[in-house]
Amino acid sequence: MIDIKIAENAGACYGVKRALKIAREASSVPGPAHTLGPLIHNPRVVASLAEQGVGVAHTLDEAQSGTLVLRSHGTAPAVKAEAIARGFEVIDATCPYVSKVQEHAYELGKQGYSVVIIGEPGHAEVESIRAWGGDAVVAVADTPDKLPATLPDKVGVVIQTTQSQDHVDAVLGAVRKLAREVLVKETVCFATQERQKAAADLAGKVELMIVIGGHNSGNTTRLYEICKPLCEATYHIEDVDEIDPAWLAGVEHVGITAGASTPQEQIDAVCSYLNKLAG
Ligand code: SF4
Repeated sequence: MIDIKIAENAGACYGVKRALKIAREASSVPGPAHTLGPLIHNPRVVASLAEQGVGVAHTLDEAQSGTLVLRSHGTAPAVKAEAIARGFEVIDATCPYVSKVQEHAYELGKQGYSVVIIGEPGHAEVESIRAWGGDAVVAVADTPDKLPATLPDKVGVVIQTTQSQDHVDAVLGAVRKLAREVLVKETVCFATQERQKAAADLAGKVELMIVIGGHNSGNTTRLYEICKPLCEATYHIEDVDEIDPAWLAGVEHVGITAGASTPQEQIDAVCSYLNKLAG
């Protein structure tokens, strides 16, 4: 008999639920509908949206015409402007918390700050923030070694909404050593902080911890990184198929958490599979 506990606040956050609702509504608009890039970092959900008529276009050329849903991670302002100019029906599903970070990056640049983004280089959200910050952005780093050797005197810092506090503290400590004046905009979203805290609390109490979410999902990967030191047997899976029944050998307490782009159905599927395995 195993005891399965799900961490509080596991799974889809406000921004993801909102983006999904917007995208599903777009499927009922006449004409073709696309998201520009995957709506969220969850391949199963993205595939199911495509079945409902909202496919993924990676470029405006690929989408050609019709309705264009801008992803929850945000879009560069120049791309949004071009989509409108080309006549797309643009529906912006950017999470309002991400929009806030974009605005801060833009405003800090206007106020004469050089901008450092604490975030994962190349991540869709981070790239949209970088685009909003424009030429003012001097560094993007989720670890201190990714910072340049020197920084301008006056630095404004914005933070990717899903960064963990450990990453933020480490990079911020290094930025403070390199710049004379540092203005920090605390932009990690509450949903992320709560989910990470609950996952850590649970990981410290179980022998097996399963983190569910897209392998391409940065916030799910950070949940894994947070849980792993607290529970050696922590695994990041996208789907039940990836569960090895051997993980359950001798285990009495299992913890489950899930990233911000993981719908409840995927959490339920993992729970019922584990219960079945435990007999
Ligand atoms: S994790 Fe936070 S910022 Fe990101 S989509 Fe969800 S609510 Fe928005």
